Amino acid sequence: MEIINGKEVAARIKGQVKADAEYLSYHVGITPCLAVILVGDDPASAVYVKNKTKDCAEVGFISRECILPESTTQEELMKLVKELNEDETVHGILCQLPLPKHLDEREVINAIDPDKDVDAFHPVNVGRIMIGEYDFLPCTPAGVMELIHSTGVCVEGKNCVVVGRSNIVGKPMSMLLLHENGTVTTCHSKTKDLKAETLRADILVAAVGKAKMIKADMVKPGAVVIDVGMNRDENGKLCGDVDFEEVKEKASYITPVPGGVGPMTRAMLMKNTFTAYKKAIGIKG
Ligand code: NDP
Repeated sequence: MEIINGKEVAARIKGQVKADAEYLSYHVGITPCLAVILVGDDPASAVYVKNKTKDCAEVGFISRECILPESTTQEELMKLVKELNEDETVHGILCQLPLPKHLDEREVINAIDPDKDVDAFHPVNVGRIMIGEYDFLPCTPAGVMELIHSTGVCVEGKNCVVVGRSNIVGKPMSMLLLHENGTVTTCHSKTKDLKAETLRADILVAAVGKAKMIKADMVKPGAVVIDVGMNRDENGKLCGDVDFEEVKEKASYITPVPGGVGPMTRAMLMKNTFTAYKKAIGIKG
């Protein structure tokens, strides 16, 4: 069994983005810029935004934190999105979710220019992913694909089981595995016999949000196991959806929590911002 080191893979990706961005910024005279909108004072969201700013600094991007009070109206938020859409110095826009209850998340996401939508949540980008003609992939599933690639295991022809079907993780995850010719099963809370499904998985991705729910007896020997979950166990310690200690004895490759998918999500955001920047300055690929 090998533990997939997400920190290491993420550092490699960020290193590449940094080198390429430095080269282009120097020659074009424009630096990539990511604008992050944060509304209200949810402490977890504030940490996520701080981390994004830190990541931008690490790869040499400009970050613009747009911090709005809890009392912000939909109209004010929409006005800010419009300004950022029109601002040529801003290449990527991200609205930190969840928004306070009185605000309409969908309306905000739909208002972001799809070419600056580095989260890839806009329906245009979701549609592009469906047909396989995309600029951006949602950061977490894209990061999972990078981790699978880092093992050298080829997805083609493999039984891939994704547990979870959210719009931000499970559904796009299944789609990406399908694009690489995996035979994909998507499980959810109404799946009749979850264990029967997961036991067939050569590649198992857990994105549920339930601490340690995937046990060793649910995993096929030699499977690649990717744990997206971020939960707290009974002692308040960060843990995934997979019971790591048990499952590591059965898997061929497994991601830890923390240090697996988490750092990849952050790295892929930097990659998406760089993609948006390249598109804006007219460079393909
Ligand atoms: P959601 O709550 O949006 O989706 C959870 C999914 O799990 C749903 O599709 C749900 O099914 C399914 N589910 C719930 N219970 C069961 C069950 N008993 N058996 C099978 N399926 C079940 O969560 P997210 O997709 O947003 O996130 C999933 C996890 O990943 C969370 O722990 C989150 O914190 C983490 N996460 C981690 C990231 C990272 O960077 N590492 C990034 C994003 C998320 P149904 O649709 O039927 O309700």
